Amino acid sequence: MSFLSLTIFKHTNLLFIRSFMIMLLSFIAIQLNLCFSNIQSSLTTIDVNGHFSFTNNEFAAKDYGNQYQFLPQAVLHPKSVSDIAITVRHVWELGPSSELTIAARGHGHSIQGQAQAHHGVVINMESLKTPKMHFQTGDELPYVDVSGGELWINILHESLKYGLTPKSWTDYLHLTVGGTLSNAGISGQAFRHGPQISNVHQLEVVTGKGEVVTCSAQQNADLFSGVLGGLGQYGIITRARISLEPAAQMVKWIRVLYSDFSTFTRDQEQLISSENTFDYIEGLVIVNRTGLLNNWRSSFNPKDDDQASQFKSEGRTLFCLELAKNFNPDKIAETNEEIESMLSMLNYIPSTLFMTEVTYVEFLDRVHTAEIKLQEKGLWDVPHPWLNLLVPRSNIHKFADGVFGNILVDTSNGPVLVYPVNKSKWNNMTSAVLPDEDIFYLVAFLSQANPLSTGKDGLEHILGLNKRILDFCEEGQLGVKQYLPHYTTQDEWRVHFGQRWETFRRRKLAYDPLAILAPGQRIFQKGVLDL
Ligand code: FAD
Repeated sequence: MSFLSLTIFKHTNLLFIRSFMIMLLSFIAIQLNLCFSNIQSSLTTIDVNGHFSFTNNEFAAKDYGNQYQFLPQAVLHPKSVSDIAITVRHVWELGPSSELTIAARGHGHSIQGQAQAHHGVVINMESLKTPKMHFQTGDELPYVDVSGGELWINILHESLKYGLTPKSWTDYLHLTVGGTLSNAGISGQAFRHGPQISNVHQLEVVTGKGEVVTCSAQQNADLFSGVLGGLGQYGIITRARISLEPAAQMVKWIRVLYSDFSTFTRDQEQLISSENTFDYIEGLVIVNRTGLLNNWRSSFNPKDDDQASQFKSEGRTLFCLELAKNFNPDKIAETNEEIESMLSMLNYIPSTLFMTEVTYVEFLDRVHTAEIKLQEKGLWDVPHPWLNLLVPRSNIHKFADGVFGNILVDTSNGPVLVYPVNKSKWNNMTSAVLPDEDIFYLVAFLSQANPLSTGKDGLEHILGLNKRILDFCEEGQLGVKQYLPHYTTQDEWRVHFGQRWETFRRRKLAYDPLAILAPGQRIFQKGVLDL
């Protein structure tokens, strides 16, 4: 073949390949479009009280973590429980050959896309306003019935009208009931009341087959236990009955510092085991934060201003015990005495006692106050590569030695929480996965990343630190469990669940056998859940 004909041949070949590729891509695009428009038209045949949206659904592909964006094909804005049930049943009836999945989205405050559904249907739970909050007040065991899409902050405001309040909280209240009950809901009250999943009497759930089921410890108990901490795998929580108690009006909010981790944890553990103790017990690690006490002064009063101003943190690793005592103004004298007596048993650095007095709502909604300030500076909607761990008591010192001041050399990227809880306050039938000890610590690395940075405050660097912390736990066999867990393979999930995996899987086969629900958790994949 001459050079010219070879060139023409090559050229023709290239043209052919190019045309073929274009045709193939167009074909795929047409098929996808056809598929999307088929699904779209199939969803529009469903008779709902609310509505589906097929455009402007970008919000459903975002979450607080700001790292994963999976666009759904449709968002259901339900007005009734039956809207949710009909939609799930419709997808159930499409059978295993359809790849369509469904994610309930609470307030979208997950970190790694857990409330997203790639090309699936997202249910915007905040649109579900039924049932209207209904309070049972006269009884010895007051409770409120709420929609699964209700925000905890709204429940707080409504309950206070009856002089009541839920018992167990998260640090931030602009989260939905369904979202936190799918995990656990842990905060400084959990040592006494257990997590939020220990404070629910009854649920109404739409299963993966589209059935509406009422469940409690007495009725459909297996589903009830499974859904609590169940990462959205067994059903969509449409109603929850939340346990209440009488509310206080005010809160004494206290911070003290320690330089020794053993003294800090000894005091924390003593406090969570005492009968007469504070109403909220948490803790923070402070690594290399010079000038921190000056920041506190804007909202806290040092007990002794002179001594406090002489205290220098200067690069040291410090541990802050955070406490709160609820009270009513007519009992202020007794409250002060009680606090004094409880503080006298502790071994913090005396010059570092800071205290303030706020309303009950101001205390519980404290993170929202910080949110408003961060929103104003454009620092709220940044990536949040959080890592939450549950560390068994027997290994918390090994963990602290290896991580604080070593892997983690400063805490300027966000707060690091450390506080113990009593496992006896958790129901071991739920799906929540916990370390195997009576006391374990929540250790939360709540970092925010600068989206423009490639340095120490950048996403890659912080994700690298998280990985080093996880590797350290694994290599040391510390028995640590992830809270708000994130894994990418089923093998990792099996290890996470350990002996509980078989129960977790059995429940999936019973309540969502096609693996339609909560695909963003990446535990099961639709169509490959074998019996
Ligand atoms: P989403 O992110 O919308 O959903 C979370 C998961 O639950 C998804 O898999 C979703 O599909 C599923 N889901 C949502 N609604 C339902 C439903 N009705 N039925 C079934 N499944 C559903 N957690 C704590 O325990 N303690 C804390 O102190 C704490 N503080 C936090 C502070 C901030 C600022 C943030 C952003 C989060 C905090 N969290 C805390 C974590 C929080 O509890 C979880 O991320 C929770 O899932 C968020 O609730 P959401 O309503 O935004 O849920």
